[in-house]
Amino acid sequence: MTAKTEGLHHVTAIAGDPQRNIDFYIRGLGLRLVKKTVNFDDPGTYHLYYGDESGTPGSLLTFFPWQGVRSGRVGSGQSTTTAFSVPQGTLGWWQEHFKGIGVASSISRASSEEERLSLRDPDGLQIDLVASSLSDPRNPWDSASVPAQYAVRGQHSSVLTVTDPGPTLETLTQDLGMRLLGESDGRYRLSTHDGEPGTVVDVVADLSAERGLVAGGTVHHIAFRVPDQATQEVWRQELAGRGYSVTAILDRQYFTSIYFREPGGTLFEIATDTPGFDIDEPLLELGRSLKLPPWLEPNREAISSAVAKIELPGENNPAVQAFFK
Ligand code: ZN
Repeated sequence: MTAKTEGLHHVTAIAGDPQRNIDFYIRGLGLRLVKKTVNFDDPGTYHLYYGDESGTPGSLLTFFPWQGVRSGRVGSGQSTTTAFSVPQGTLGWWQEHFKGIGVASSISRASSEEERLSLRDPDGLQIDLVASSLSDPRNPWDSASVPAQYAVRGQHSSVLTVTDPGPTLETLTQDLGMRLLGESDGRYRLSTHDGEPGTVVDVVADLSAERGLVAGGTVHHIAFRVPDQATQEVWRQELAGRGYSVTAILDRQYFTSIYFREPGGTLFEIATDTPGFDIDEPLLELGRSLKLPPWLEPNREAISSAVAKIELPGENNPAVQAFFK
Protein backbone atom coordinates (compact mmCIF):
# COMPACT_ATOMS: atom_id res chain seq x y z
CA MET A 1 0.00 0.00 0.00
CA THR A 2 1.53 3.28 -1.04
CA ALA A 3 -1.20 5.29 0.71
CA LYS A 4 -1.47 5.50 4.45
CA THR A 5 -4.36 6.50 6.65
CA GLU A 6 -4.25 9.93 8.28
CA GLY A 7 -5.33 8.49 11.62
CA LEU A 8 -8.47 7.52 13.51
CA HIS A 9 -11.84 8.65 12.13
CA HIS A 10 -14.33 7.29 14.69
CA VAL A 11 -15.19 4.46 17.03
CA THR A 12 -18.65 2.90 17.04
CA ALA A 13 -19.93 1.06 20.12
CA ILE A 14 -23.13 -0.54 21.39
CA ALA A 15 -25.13 0.97 24.23
CA GLY A 16 -28.41 0.28 26.03
CA ASP A 17 -30.71 3.16 26.98
CA PRO A 18 -30.18 6.12 24.58
CA GLN A 19 -31.05 8.79 27.18
CA ARG A 20 -28.52 7.42 29.64
CA ASN A 21 -25.94 7.38 26.84
CA ILE A 22 -26.67 11.02 25.94
CA ASP A 23 -26.50 12.16 29.56
CA PHE A 24 -23.14 10.46 30.11
CA TYR A 25 -21.38 11.64 26.95
CA ILE A 26 -22.69 15.21 27.06
CA ARG A 27 -22.61 15.86 30.82
CA GLY A 28 -19.83 13.46 31.75
CA LEU A 29 -17.37 13.55 28.88
CA GLY A 30 -18.43 17.01 27.67
CA LEU A 31 -18.77 15.95 24.02
CA ARG A 32 -21.22 17.49 21.60
CA LEU A 33 -24.04 15.43 20.10
CA VAL A 34 -23.30 16.25 16.44
CA LYS A 35 -25.91 14.00 14.86
CA LYS A 36 -29.11 12.34 15.94
CA THR A 37 -30.00 9.86 13.23
CA VAL A 38 -30.98 6.19 12.97
CA ASN A 39 -29.07 3.02 12.26
CA PHE A 40 -29.36 2.91 8.44
CA ASP A 41 -29.35 -0.89 8.59
CA ASP A 42 -31.98 -0.97 11.41
CA PRO A 43 -33.94 2.31 11.20
CA GLY A 44 -36.07 1.63 14.30
CA THR A 45 -33.05 2.42 16.50
CA TYR A 46 -30.88 5.48 16.87
CA HIS A 47 -27.37 6.13 15.70
CA LEU A 48 -25.93 8.87 17.93
CA TYR A 49 -22.71 10.68 16.98
CA TYR A 50 -20.63 12.62 19.51
CA GLY A 51 -17.59 14.75 18.77
CA ASP A 52 -16.16 18.26 18.82
CA GLU A 53 -18.04 21.35 17.62
CA SER A 54 -18.31 20.25 13.99
CA GLY A 55 -17.76 16.50 14.39
CA THR A 56 -14.24 16.58 12.97
CA PRO A 57 -12.94 13.14 11.94
CA GLY A 58 -10.74 11.94 14.79
CA SER A 59 -13.04 13.41 17.44
CA LEU A 60 -15.95 11.02 16.91
CA LEU A 61 -17.50 8.34 19.08
CA THR A 62 -20.80 6.92 17.83
CA PHE A 63 -23.35 4.56 19.37
CA PHE A 64 -26.05 2.17 18.36
CA PRO A 65 -28.24 2.32 21.49
CA TRP A 66 -30.58 -0.67 21.81
CA GLN A 67 -32.94 -0.48 24.76
CA GLY A 68 -32.54 -3.66 26.83
CA VAL A 69 -29.54 -4.97 24.87
CA ARG A 70 -27.69 -7.79 26.63
CA SER A 71 -24.21 -7.04 27.87
CA GLY A 72 -21.32 -8.06 25.66
CA ARG A 73 -18.04 -9.58 26.73
CA VAL A 74 -14.83 -7.60 26.47
CA GLY A 75 -12.12 -9.86 25.12
CA SER A 76 -9.80 -10.72 22.27
CA GLY A 77 -10.64 -9.77 18.72
CA GLN A 78 -12.02 -6.43 19.84
CA SER A 79 -11.11 -2.85 20.43
CA THR A 80 -11.15 -2.99 24.23
CA THR A 81 -10.39 0.61 25.22
CA THR A 82 -11.31 3.90 23.59
CA ALA A 83 -9.00 6.70 24.69
CA PHE A 84 -9.55 10.45 24.38
CA SER A 85 -6.93 13.18 24.55
CA VAL A 86 -7.12 15.82 27.31
CA PRO A 87 -4.58 18.51 28.30
CA GLN A 88 -1.76 17.68 30.70
CA GLY A 89 -2.47 18.47 34.33
CA THR A 90 -6.25 18.04 34.03
CA LEU A 91 -6.75 14.44 35.21
CA GLY A 92 -7.30 15.51 38.84
CA TRP A 93 -10.07 17.84 37.68
CA TRP A 94 -11.60 15.05 35.60
CA GLN A 95 -11.51 12.61 38.49
CA GLU A 96 -13.42 15.08 40.70
CA HIS A 97 -15.82 15.83 37.88
CA PHE A 98 -16.67 12.14 37.42
CA LYS A 99 -16.93 11.65 41.18
CA GLY A 100 -19.52 14.45 41.17
CA ILE A 101 -21.72 12.43 38.79
CA GLY A 102 -21.15 9.14 40.60
CA VAL A 103 -18.55 7.62 38.23
CA ALA A 104 -15.47 5.97 39.77
CA SER A 105 -12.16 6.40 37.95
CA SER A 106 -8.49 5.67 38.52
CA ILE A 107 -5.29 7.39 37.42
CA SER A 108 -2.25 5.47 36.17
CA ARG A 109 1.01 6.46 34.56
CA ALA A 110 1.87 4.32 31.52
CA SER A 111 5.15 6.10 30.78
CA SER A 112 6.92 9.35 31.52
CA GLU A 113 5.04 10.88 28.57
CA GLU A 114 1.58 9.60 29.35
CA GLU A 115 -0.92 9.57 32.20
CA ARG A 116 -4.36 7.94 32.02
CA LEU A 117 -7.67 8.26 33.81
CA SER A 118 -9.67 5.05 33.35
CA LEU A 119 -13.42 4.69 33.82
CA ARG A 120 -16.42 2.88 32.43
CA ASP A 121 -19.50 4.39 30.82
CA PRO A 122 -22.98 3.37 32.11
CA ASP A 123 -22.98 0.30 29.80
CA GLY A 124 -19.51 -0.77 30.92
CA LEU A 125 -17.57 0.54 27.90
CA GLN A 126 -13.92 1.17 28.85
CA ILE A 127 -13.02 4.84 28.34
CA ASP A 128 -9.61 6.34 29.09
CA LEU A 129 -8.64 9.99 29.17
CA VAL A 130 -4.99 10.39 28.18
CA ALA A 131 -2.86 13.38 29.14
CA SER A 132 0.16 13.15 26.84
CA SER A 133 3.32 15.25 26.73
CA LEU A 134 2.92 15.32 22.94
CA SER A 135 1.02 18.47 22.09
CA ASP A 136 -2.55 18.28 20.81
CA PRO A 137 -3.44 21.49 18.95
CA ARG A 138 -7.05 20.48 18.22
CA ASN A 139 -9.80 22.84 19.40
CA PRO A 140 -12.12 21.40 22.06
CA TRP A 141 -15.89 21.74 22.33
CA ASP A 142 -16.48 24.26 25.10
CA SER A 143 -19.56 22.91 26.88
CA ALA A 144 -21.57 23.88 29.93
CA SER A 145 -20.42 20.76 31.79
CA VAL A 146 -16.73 20.70 30.77
CA PRO A 147 -14.97 24.06 30.22
CA ALA A 148 -12.57 24.28 27.25
CA GLN A 149 -9.43 24.31 29.40
CA TYR A 150 -10.13 20.72 30.50
CA ALA A 151 -12.12 19.48 27.54
CA VAL A 152 -11.50 16.47 25.34
CA ARG A 153 -9.43 17.37 22.24
CA GLY A 154 -10.52 14.33 20.27
CA GLN A 155 -9.61 10.67 20.14
CA HIS A 156 -6.20 9.70 21.46
CA SER A 157 -6.04 6.00 20.58
CA SER A 158 -7.79 2.67 20.45
CA VAL A 159 -6.53 -0.52 22.08
CA LEU A 160 -6.89 -3.79 20.19
CA THR A 161 -6.67 -6.96 22.30
CA VAL A 162 -5.49 -10.06 20.43
CA THR A 163 -4.20 -13.49 21.37
CA ASP A 164 -1.60 -13.46 18.58
CA PRO A 165 -0.25 -9.99 17.76
CA GLY A 166 1.66 -10.97 14.59
CA PRO A 167 -1.08 -10.90 11.93
CA THR A 168 -2.74 -7.77 13.38
CA LEU A 169 0.58 -5.92 13.46
CA GLU A 170 1.18 -6.96 9.88
CA THR A 171 -2.19 -5.57 8.75
CA LEU A 172 -1.61 -2.27 10.55
CA THR A 173 1.91 -1.78 9.21
CA GLN A 174 1.83 -3.44 5.76
CA ASP A 175 -1.74 -2.63 4.73
CA LEU A 176 -2.69 0.55 6.64
CA GLY A 177 0.75 2.16 6.50
CA MET A 178 1.14 2.56 10.29
CA ARG A 179 4.54 2.58 12.03
CA LEU A 180 5.48 0.46 15.00
CA LEU A 181 6.84 2.96 17.54
CA GLY A 182 7.74 0.52 20.28
CA GLU A 183 6.80 -2.46 22.45
CA SER A 184 6.73 -3.02 26.17
CA ASP A 185 5.33 -6.05 28.05
CA GLY A 186 3.34 -7.31 25.07
CA ARG A 187 1.87 -3.89 24.34
CA TYR A 188 2.74 -2.57 20.87
CA ARG A 189 2.28 1.09 20.00
CA LEU A 190 1.59 2.01 16.39
CA SER A 191 0.91 5.37 14.80
CA THR A 192 0.11 6.76 11.39
CA HIS A 193 2.59 9.54 12.25
CA ASP A 194 4.80 9.93 15.34
CA GLY A 195 2.38 9.03 18.11
CA GLU A 196 0.40 12.26 18.19
CA PRO A 197 -3.08 11.98 19.78
CA GLY A 198 -5.60 10.73 17.23
CA THR A 199 -3.05 8.71 15.25
CA VAL A 200 -2.40 5.85 17.68
CA VAL A 201 -3.40 2.18 17.93
CA ASP A 202 -2.09 0.05 20.79
CA VAL A 203 -2.09 -3.71 20.20
CA VAL A 204 -2.15 -5.72 23.41
CA ALA A 205 -1.15 -9.38 23.22
CA ASP A 206 -3.12 -11.38 25.80
CA LEU A 207 -2.81 -15.12 25.25
CA SER A 208 -5.33 -15.91 27.96
CA ALA A 209 -8.01 -13.45 26.82
CA GLU A 210 -11.38 -15.00 26.17
CA ARG A 211 -12.91 -14.24 22.79
CA GLY A 212 -14.89 -10.99 22.99
CA LEU A 213 -18.60 -10.85 22.29
CA VAL A 214 -19.94 -7.71 20.63
CA ALA A 215 -23.10 -6.48 22.42
CA GLY A 216 -23.87 -3.80 25.05
CA GLY A 217 -20.81 -1.98 26.42
CA THR A 218 -18.42 -3.14 23.68
CA VAL A 219 -16.92 -1.58 20.56
CA HIS A 220 -18.50 -2.63 17.26
CA HIS A 221 -15.75 -1.29 14.98
CA ILE A 222 -13.07 1.34 14.64
CA ALA A 223 -12.64 3.56 11.59
CA PHE A 224 -9.59 5.10 9.96
CA ARG A 225 -9.47 8.28 7.90
CA VAL A 226 -9.10 8.81 4.18
CA PRO A 227 -9.67 12.24 2.61
CA ASP A 228 -12.26 11.39 -0.03
CA GLN A 229 -14.14 8.73 -1.95
CA ALA A 230 -11.62 8.55 -4.81
CA THR A 231 -8.89 7.62 -2.32
CA GLN A 232 -11.26 5.21 -0.63
CA GLU A 233 -11.89 3.39 -3.91
CA VAL A 234 -8.11 2.95 -4.36
CA TRP A 235 -7.95 1.50 -0.84
CA ARG A 236 -10.86 -0.82 -1.55
CA GLN A 237 -9.19 -2.28 -4.62
CA GLU A 238 -5.83 -2.52 -2.88
CA LEU A 239 -7.27 -4.31 0.19
CA ALA A 240 -9.34 -6.68 -1.97
CA GLY A 241 -6.20 -7.45 -4.00
CA ARG A 242 -4.44 -8.38 -0.77
CA GLY A 243 -7.11 -10.94 0.01
CA TYR A 244 -9.32 -9.04 2.45
CA SER A 245 -13.05 -9.44 2.11
CA VAL A 246 -13.97 -5.76 1.71
CA THR A 247 -17.50 -4.35 1.40
CA ALA A 248 -18.64 -2.08 -1.39
CA ILE A 249 -18.52 1.66 -0.65
CA LEU A 250 -21.51 2.40 1.58
CA ASP A 251 -23.14 5.82 1.85
CA ARG A 252 -23.28 6.86 5.52
CA GLN A 253 -24.57 10.34 4.58
CA TYR A 254 -21.86 12.22 6.53
CA PHE A 255 -19.03 10.11 5.06
CA THR A 256 -18.74 6.98 2.94
CA SER A 257 -17.40 3.71 4.30
CA ILE A 258 -15.81 0.40 3.49
CA TYR A 259 -15.41 -2.38 6.06
CA PHE A 260 -13.15 -5.38 6.46
CA ARG A 261 -12.06 -7.59 9.35
CA GLU A 262 -8.44 -7.57 10.47
CA PRO A 263 -6.98 -11.04 11.16
CA GLY A 264 -7.14 -10.59 14.96
CA GLY A 265 -10.94 -10.26 14.75
CA THR A 266 -11.70 -6.53 15.03
CA LEU A 267 -13.93 -4.97 12.38
CA PHE A 268 -12.13 -2.10 10.63
CA GLU A 269 -13.72 0.67 8.59
CA ILE A 270 -12.10 3.16 6.25
CA ALA A 271 -14.19 6.36 6.27
CA THR A 272 -13.94 9.62 4.31
CA ASP A 273 -13.41 13.07 5.84
CA THR A 274 -16.09 14.45 3.52
CA PRO A 275 -18.86 15.61 3.29
CA GLY A 276 -19.21 16.10 7.09
CA PHE A 277 -22.01 16.71 9.56
CA ASP A 278 -23.24 20.11 8.36
CA ILE A 279 -24.49 18.61 5.10
CA ASP A 280 -28.09 18.41 6.38
CA GLU A 281 -28.31 20.96 9.24
CA PRO A 282 -26.46 24.17 10.23
CA LEU A 283 -23.39 23.90 12.47
CA LEU A 284 -25.14 25.70 15.35
CA GLU A 285 -28.00 23.21 15.35
CA LEU A 286 -26.11 19.93 15.00
CA GLY A 287 -27.74 17.05 16.86
CA ARG A 288 -30.91 18.86 17.80
CA SER A 289 -33.40 17.19 15.47
CA LEU A 290 -33.76 13.71 14.05
CA LYS A 291 -32.00 13.61 10.67
CA LEU A 292 -32.69 10.90 8.11
CA PRO A 293 -30.95 10.12 4.82
CA PRO A 294 -33.04 10.83 1.68
CA TRP A 295 -33.89 7.15 1.22
CA LEU A 296 -35.45 6.91 4.71
CA GLU A 297 -37.17 10.33 4.67
CA PRO A 298 -40.45 8.89 3.24
CA ASN A 299 -40.70 6.74 6.41
CA ARG A 300 -40.07 9.63 8.84
CA GLU A 301 -43.38 9.33 10.65
CA ALA A 302 -43.04 5.60 11.32
CA ILE A 303 -39.38 5.98 12.31
CA SER A 304 -40.06 8.92 14.67
CA SER A 305 -42.70 6.96 16.52
CA ALA A 306 -40.54 3.80 16.65
CA VAL A 307 -37.51 5.42 18.30
CA ALA A 308 -37.48 6.32 22.01
CA LYS A 309 -38.07 9.94 23.02
CA ILE A 310 -34.78 11.51 24.06
CA GLU A 311 -33.88 14.92 25.41
CA LEU A 312 -30.59 16.78 25.29
CA PRO A 313 -29.32 17.98 28.69
CA GLY A 314 -30.32 21.60 29.07
CA GLU A 315 -33.06 21.39 26.45
CA ASN A 316 -35.55 22.66 29.05
CA ASN A 317 -33.15 25.31 30.27
CA PRO A 318 -34.34 28.78 29.10
CA ALA A 319 -30.75 30.01 28.56
CA VAL A 320 -30.00 27.08 26.28
CA GLN A 321 -33.29 27.51 24.43
CA ALA A 322 -32.49 31.19 23.88
CA PHE A 323 -29.06 30.28 22.50
CA PHE A 324 -30.61 28.03 19.89
CA LYS A 325 -33.38 30.50 18.86
ZN1 ZN B 1 -18.38 3.36 11.50
